[in-house]
Amino acid sequence: MTGESFEVVVIGGGPAGLSAALNLVRARRRVLVIDSNRPRNAATLKARGFLTRDGIPPLELRRLGRDEVEAYDNGEVAFAQAQSVEFSDAGFHIRAKGVRGSADLDVLAETLVIATGLTETLPDVPSIRAYYGTQLHSCVECDGFEKADAPLALIGETDDLAERALLLTQWSKDLIVFTNQAGTVTADEERTLARLGVQVERRQIDDLTGERGVMTGVRLVDGTEIPRVGGFVRPVWTPSLAFATGLDLDADDDGFLLTDSQGRTSIPGVYAAGESTPPGPQQLIVAAGAGAVVAAAVNRDLIGVATDQDATV
Ligand SMILES: Cc1cc2nc3c(=O)[nH]c(=O)nc-3n(C[C@H](O)[C@H](O)[C@H](O)COP(=O)(O)OP(=O)(O)OC[C@H]3O[C@@H](n4cnc5c(N)ncnc54)[C@H](O)[C@@H]3O)c2cc1C
Repeated sequence: MTGESFEVVVIGGGPAGLSAALNLVRARRRVLVIDSNRPRNAATLKARGFLTRDGIPPLELRRLGRDEVEAYDNGEVAFAQAQSVEFSDAGFHIRAKGVRGSADLDVLAETLVIATGLTETLPDVPSIRAYYGTQLHSCVECDGFEKADAPLALIGETDDLAERALLLTQWSKDLIVFTNQAGTVTADEERTLARLGVQVERRQIDDLTGERGVMTGVRLVDGTEIPRVGGFVRPVWTPSLAFATGLDLDADDDGFLLTDSQGRTSIPGVYAAGESTPPGPQQLIVAAGAGAVVAAAVNRDLIGVATDQDATV
């Protein structure tokens, strides 16, 4: 696809981008969604907590979303990875490389919605990826229920482990916090956790142990094996925004895009939804809700009726 113009190009076809697109096609906007189709939650088999879709496979949720957007003549989804965006008098010029056998794209947009989510860096433990999404998770609200009262590990290298551990005790108090000699748990925090029966293990992790893909424990570098059936990890999050560097959008210290409450970024005509913005509750339905909020702002701004930044009714 070369030279075509759209009123709105949405980059990122997760719940945030697809929800923005669905609401915009219903506002009779001509919309293209460009998606590299690498769902953040692809590692898991069931997505939890999305009202009416609790337990749906992540890929199925997206397929349904794409189908709903493309059911409208003015909505289109293309599998491609955005490489660059430049602004000119003609609008936003987007170049994208086709994925999954799809063609490269070179298109123009009057308005741009960025919904490319984030990438995760997991704690430095060799086989952590092998268990991530099945026995180890990052979202307590999403996966805590299935882990209720089980012997769990919380593995992290950040300074918010005690807070995560406290939250997790709502689901299981049989919990050990592994700092891997990198995460911070203060002495005060350790005492608070101990009162709840939660241990803190500060020794370095050698690897996770398991049999036939089923996690059985955590092995420390001194050879000690601590039985655990799964648990939670605390990743470090980085927004996926390499393609947008040319726009020089305002971002926070971690690179997440700063917006007003309706998703408007620092550059007129550029909006951001979902996990491209500073971390909040990281759930599918929250991202989808953010996409709907942004869609309303985009439509109003294109008409020129949004005089009050926070007007939604
Ligand atoms: C293992 C795991 C399990 C989870 N389980 C649940 C759960 O059970 N329930 C729940 O509510 N939440 C769950 N989550 C959280 C959920 O996945 C996120 O909250 C949600 O996906 C965020 O939506 P998003 O649209 O902002 O971003 P994403 O879903 O990450 O979508 C972003 C999209 O943008 C695309 N993209 C990135 N860069 C480009 C580019 N340059 N060009 C084009 N496209 C691009 C990506 O390929 C991707 O398709 C889980 C997360 C993980 C990691």
